[in-house]
Amino acid sequence: FKEEGNKGGVNIDEYRGVWVFAEQREGKTLNVVRELLGEGRKIADELETELTAVLLGHNIEDEANLLIKYGADKVIYANHELLGVYTTDGYAKVIYDLIQERKPEIMLIGATNIGRDLGPRLSAKVHTGLTADCTRLDVDKENRRLMMTRPAFGGNLMATILCPNHRPQMSTVRPGVMEKAKIDENREGIVQVVKPELKDSDIKAKVIETVKSDKPVVALEEAPIIVSGGRGLGGEEGFKLIEDLAEKLGGVVGASRATVDSQWIEQSHQVGQTGKTVRPGLYVACGISGAIQHLAGMQDSKCIVAINKDPNAPIFEVADYGIVGDLYEVIPELIQALDNV
Ligand code: FAD
Repeated sequence: FKEEGNKGGVNIDEYRGVWVFAEQREGKTLNVVRELLGEGRKIADELETELTAVLLGHNIEDEANLLIKYGADKVIYANHELLGVYTTDGYAKVIYDLIQERKPEIMLIGATNIGRDLGPRLSAKVHTGLTADCTRLDVDKENRRLMMTRPAFGGNLMATILCPNHRPQMSTVRPGVMEKAKIDENREGIVQVVKPELKDSDIKAKVIETVKSDKPVVALEEAPIIVSGGRGLGGEEGFKLIEDLAEKLGGVVGASRATVDSQWIEQSHQVGQTGKTVRPGLYVACGISGAIQHLAGMQDSKCIVAINKDPNAPIFEVADYGIVGDLYEVIPELIQALDNV
């Protein structure tokens, strides 16, 4: 690619500032927004520029103010009755107009279902690149470049991708990977309310109704304690034991991909490269060997306990505490010990 000037791209020197898309559902911004604000703050500080949260919705001023307390210097709050519920056309148009007008150099979006829909549409409209599902972001300060890293070729290598000639540099970021910004009640900033130009006819696909799944949501990314089961359980019924231990500890149930592929448990429980990335205070891995793709999703947990009958299982390399033994003996003993606490 050509590096110099604005050949094939835009005049990149006109672009400044880091933007975070503040995705909301029913008026509440998601946890991934706090993660993006934490990461965005670091990037903005390094580039000595402003961090802006972009919030689209209807009558959610309180949420706009909250984003300042989580580290944004400025919030652009686009308030419109057609933005209450997400639509690809409506959101892409409003953010596109804002980008054209204000020219941010970086735009971060959570790699949620909505983010994965919005990111590509937006980047195509703006004629810039998009690095999807990033797990790491770094800054080349001298060239004001974002180095966007994501797993490639099924996780067999990590690819660092640059966007040299186009702006903004856009990235969707995997939820649960970056550290959340902490709240500072005294933080002050600017909330700019804008009334976007948006008509019914701009939105081709209309949301008629939102039907919530009646299956309980496994909030793995939020859970402070996770007890995960692997192929060592030997079968679907083994998860009953995992559930019992999770319940005793006040945690939720996670799983390796081997158990999901065997249909012992639903995919929403899967931890790892093609599952969820988690960093709980306590992660208990039961009958899990510790394949690299599993570790990719849990190795940043604060305390890892592994139960495995093979003393050479790779999971012990990342474990803070290792118990070598049959999980069908160890877990009931643990549960009993917890009963006596
Ligand atoms: P195994 O590797 O079979 O390990 C079972 C373990 O249980 C062994 O260590 C054994 O010693 C122990 N054991 C057996 N019986 C007992 C007992 N009674 N008591 C105690 N221990 C016992 N995997 C994921 O988990 N998440 C992912 O997101 C993921 N993504 C992937 C993406 C790609 C592109 C690829 C190629 C693979 C991916 N995998 C993922 C699969 C991964 O490579 C492993 O195959 C998988 O993690 C193995 O699951 P496991 O540890 O449960 O099973």
